[in-house]
Amino acid sequence: QARPAVPSTTPATWLGVMGGGQLGRMFAHAAQSMGFKVAVLEADADCPAGQVADRLLAAPYDDARALAELGGLCAAVTTEFENVSAQSLATLAGQTFVAPAASGVSIAQDRTAEKAFFTECGSRSGVLPAPHFVINSEADIAAIGGDLLPGILKTARMGYDGKGQVRVRTLDEVRAAFADMKGVTCVLEKMLPLAYEVSVLVARGDDGQAVVYPIAENVHRDGVLFTTTVPGPNIKQDAAVRAQQAALQIIEGMHYVGVLCIEFFVLQDGSLVVNEMAPRPHNSGHYTIDACVTSQFEQQARAMARLPLGDTRQHSPAVMLNILGDVWYEGESVREPAWDQVLALPGAHLHLYGKAEARRGRKMGHVTFTGATIEDAQKQLAAACAILG
Ligand code: ADP
Ligand code: MG
Repeated sequence: QARPAVPSTTPATWLGVMGGGQLGRMFAHAAQSMGFKVAVLEADADCPAGQVADRLLAAPYDDARALAELGGLCAAVTTEFENVSAQSLATLAGQTFVAPAASGVSIAQDRTAEKAFFTECGSRSGVLPAPHFVINSEADIAAIGGDLLPGILKTARMGYDGKGQVRVRTLDEVRAAFADMKGVTCVLEKMLPLAYEVSVLVARGDDGQAVVYPIAENVHRDGVLFTTTVPGPNIKQDAAVRAQQAALQIIEGMHYVGVLCIEFFVLQDGSLVVNEMAPRPHNSGHYTIDACVTSQFEQQARAMARLPLGDTRQHSPAVMLNILGDVWYEGESVREPAWDQVLALPGAHLHLYGKAEARRGRKMGHVTFTGATIEDAQKQLAAACAILG
């Protein structure tokens, strides 16, 4: 049913995105530079992706008419927001090529399905999720083994940037936290002794060819990604290879088409634990725009269009710093950060997402520093942090 998607200009080949955030915006930039036209479906008319899209369908993600219009217009559709309902993607798949498919997205949307799938993959790769227990109702809590505490209670669905998570030490705290979550299905995970955190971006084409990017080392602050460093200062070669192999097995196992990001923990004893995945380009992959032969966003466009996947090779060591709305604040007053000073630093690449209002905790942009060595890039990052405060 899907039309051939190799880019054409007359008439233009359209690629569609469900979701209007910064990931959709950066996807649009990449796809447009290859000659595609980009349509975005998002209810908020002044969204980051809508500002740059060739067409914005301003409607909710489950709007039947908007879905039909998007599916009719586009040779392929993807999602930039992982909580777009899998049902909407399944509906679109009746009309056009959808990558990733609803089946893969629905696994990544639900921590219980995700952990079950990771456990299955782990029987081959040896890389397992954290010990955990699924809580569907209050009555399940009595059966929790003491070895899972202290732990973290996470909602099965809709959690991101540390939201929907509570640290718990006793079964009574689990009960109280579960009640606070309003009884939605949760997963209790054992609190693990993390040494550092990494992520692996992988991509797979419709022809089954898969590619993997260099492993990235991530630092979070208050549950939100703060920096990504590639190559990471802590990453050992053997852990990197194991994580990349596990990521490739996961993407193969789902018969997934498109870009997928998988987060891992490296524990203090050097062992590797698979944490969660995002069925789309990821914040920790933004460094690929400035530091790799093919960015994660171009890769997504290639996968959607059933073009050959691009080279994942990194050509420059890189550090990415997320820019949150907090840096606009000086006490209670709001002012523009000193971008002139940031851009005076060698190797700075500034990306701002066009969000009209800077709010604390809101992702407003990122800056990637590339350098001849990772130490060079880290030095500029430290200088940027001092400027931004
Ligand atoms: P989110 O969807 O919010 O990114 P994560 O599962 O990645 O949720 O958890 C957010 C952060 O919390 C992780 O990056 C890690 O720092 C910490 N964390 C999560 N699970 C565990 C765990 N089992 N043990 C120790 N730290 C954890
Ligand atoms: Mg996470």
